[in-house]
Amino acid sequence: MDNVAAAADAFAESLSRRLETEETEEAFQGMPSDGDSRVGYEAMGAGGWIGVHWPERLGGRDLTPLHTAAAEERFGYHWLPLSGYLLSVKTIGNALLRLASPALQERLIPPIATGQLIFCQGFSEPGAGSDLASLTTRAERQGNTFVVSGHKIWTSSAQLADWIYLAVRTDPDAKRPQDGISVLVADMRTPGIDVQPFATLGGGQLCEVFLDDVEIPVDQLVGELHGGWRVLMATLDYERVTSEKVGILLRVLDELEPLVENPADRLTLLRLRGEAEASRLHGRRATQLLEAGAPASAAASMAKLSCAVLAQRLADEGIRMLGPAGLTERGHGDRVHGRLAALARAAVGATISGGSAEIQRRVIARRGLECPA
Ligand SMILES: Cc1cc2nc3c(=O)[nH]c(=O)nc-3n(C[C@H](O)[C@H](O)[C@H](O)COP(=O)(O)OP(=O)(O)OC[C@H]3O[C@@H](n4cnc5c(N)ncnc54)[C@H](O)[C@@H]3O)c2cc1C
Repeated sequence: MDNVAAAADAFAESLSRRLETEETEEAFQGMPSDGDSRVGYEAMGAGGWIGVHWPERLGGRDLTPLHTAAAEERFGYHWLPLSGYLLSVKTIGNALLRLASPALQERLIPPIATGQLIFCQGFSEPGAGSDLASLTTRAERQGNTFVVSGHKIWTSSAQLADWIYLAVRTDPDAKRPQDGISVLVADMRTPGIDVQPFATLGGGQLCEVFLDDVEIPVDQLVGELHGGWRVLMATLDYERVTSEKVGILLRVLDELEPLVENPADRLTLLRLRGEAEASRLHGRRATQLLEAGAPASAAASMAKLSCAVLAQRLADEGIRMLGPAGLTERGHGDRVHGRLAALARAAVGATISGGSAEIQRRVIARRGLECPA
């Protein structure tokens, strides 16, 4: 494990230096989880850092998911632009390996592993975020295709993505709304897909995706027809294990510590470091449960919630300790390489993206503590 983490660390440090010269400022805005870089993603694929635990026959290295988590922590620590990676590999790639047909896996996993295929995730809609089961994007079966129309919003990396992982309604008459949903994958060049990006407070971009009579072949269904709710929940479990954010927080702590002299503040930083360690352990537990095929939602939500709340506290405390200088952006005489300012901006969305903090608490209460609905 330590060898893989050390190799990932060396790779990420060198790629980070390379991207500093080759990439635009936009790639480094916000936290690494908001930044995008196709150059960086391709380099990760070429270097064997995509799908570390995926089977060798599909382009992986056959190591364990804990090795992957350790590597992802180092990617975050070295501030690599990771949005495309987190969607395509950590979230959708892992879900495809568990839930897609062998044919679809053979078609999509190898190009992800080589860093050639970036996915975006079209779940949220203007009227369906926390209440995802109320989504209205409609997919009607016509022969060998689904014809899809609807409107997705807050779609990260859609401006860059090659394919989309799409939650659609295939049975509008199902008794429970959850029972009428399916998941499809589609090439973003399919006629009828229109992407409109917009800037975010975090510094990155999000997109609206408009779907107008988009024809998607039926063999691009992931999991069972009308069985998409299970696929969505499993996919979110992967998304919510945020090892990369543990790395991000450790980096900010490492850069803050030499600048803080007040003993009370130093103690606060030590406490926050302890909480980052706890968050890392939540992530490892969820990773092990996912690997074992055991129920992992409560553990994944604990990992996500602990990291998101800690990101906001660390940003607040860091700015209190450094004063306004802590808010200086990257490249403007900043004391912590602009990372604290980036964290402060992007952490606001950390308790919203991937499911809000309230929804994580609900999942923990219902699935972890068996509280009534
Ligand atoms: C940076 C970022 C990136 C994102 N990327 C993507 C992406 O790539 N793909 C994608 O599909 N979506 C993405 N999202 C969307 C994200 O998943 C949704 O914003 C999130 O699920 C919340 O949905 P909503 O915005 O509709 O808020 P709402 O669901 O309207 O919630 C508003 C408020 O009400 C609270 N609330 C709602 N229901 C309950 C309840 N039952 N109990 C208690 N409180 C409740 C929420 O916690 C929240 O505080 C992204 C969001 C952000 C911020």
